[in-house]
Amino acid sequence: MNQIQIIYTGGTIGMMTDPKTRALKPINFEQIMENVPELERLNCKIKVHSFEQIIDSSNMNPRIWCELADLIHDNYESVDGFVILHGSDTMAFTSSALSFMLENLAKPVIFTGSQLPISAVRTDAKENLMTAIEIAKAKKNDRARVPEVCIYFDYKLFRGNRAFKYNSSKFEAFRSPNYPILAESGVHLKFSINDIRQPVEGPLRVHRRLESDVAVLKLYPGISPKVVETILSADVRGIVMETFGAGNTTTDKWFTDMLKHAINSGKVIVDISQCKVGTVELGRYETSKELKDMGVANGYDMTYEAAITKMMFLLAQYEDPMIIKEMMETDMRGELTVS
Ligand code: ASP
Repeated sequence: MNQIQIIYTGGTIGMMTDPKTRALKPINFEQIMENVPELERLNCKIKVHSFEQIIDSSNMNPRIWCELADLIHDNYESVDGFVILHGSDTMAFTSSALSFMLENLAKPVIFTGSQLPISAVRTDAKENLMTAIEIAKAKKNDRARVPEVCIYFDYKLFRGNRAFKYNSSKFEAFRSPNYPILAESGVHLKFSINDIRQPVEGPLRVHRRLESDVAVLKLYPGISPKVVETILSADVRGIVMETFGAGNTTTDKWFTDMLKHAINSGKVIVDISQCKVGTVELGRYETSKELKDMGVANGYDMTYEAAITKMMFLLAQYEDPMIIKEMMETDMRGELTVS
């Protein structure tokens, strides 16, 4: 019989309205189970690990990502797949980070949560949880159908490092406009076989080191030298720069001089777009040509979540900024499409 490991970190899925304060507060996993008697009818064994401190995902951090990676590593041989219950607010950061930390992953790691608590009458939690488990145990020819870190939410399965939370009030909380969904649940569970990554041969390697000091430079018309200088001179080695359209920035000399200076002093700057759909094309417009020449890394169609966590990951693995830049532009776990 298939065995699934559920890891419960917190989030709305496991919250209940406190009758006194009327605020949502976390409940323990046994109470969650009581709300889903259908779990008994799934043809699989379920092991549960509940974090001691159940959190709203706004309190998620790289230390907990490492704990998650360790739990996956320690249970990897004994189970067929993992379902991680996590608040939706920062789920895409955790799923992106885990995708980089787990090299050669050959089993499903499916994140899910919900917009309404599992005890609510109109909850979306039951469907999300039940189908996430179905996906985590799905196999074909004895191999996992989705050997990837994913997010399952509102009938859709997304690659974890391609999705982002875009809606805080609809059940359809996530989108992944730059990459097709990996599966859709309806009457049947339909897998998009050609879009699912196949694992590379070799044992699972867990990378636990992350450097979380990353700065973000989000551009807007009128941004001043004072603001740009403050961000670029922060004591960090990596900067995620959110630009306009296809990766464009102002061509004002003070701005490009500041970027050049930062790069020459050993910082890595990656260019991702403020647009949620499409890709960065360095050199397409005059307003990005100079960026390419000075050595800004092309972030292509990466999400903000993937760019931040990939930077944290690469900064911890490598010293040489040239290597970090090159890796930033390389598709490591299906997080970007080189165009
Ligand atoms: N604030 C909650 C969290 O991210 C929202 C949710 O679970 O959807 O933990």
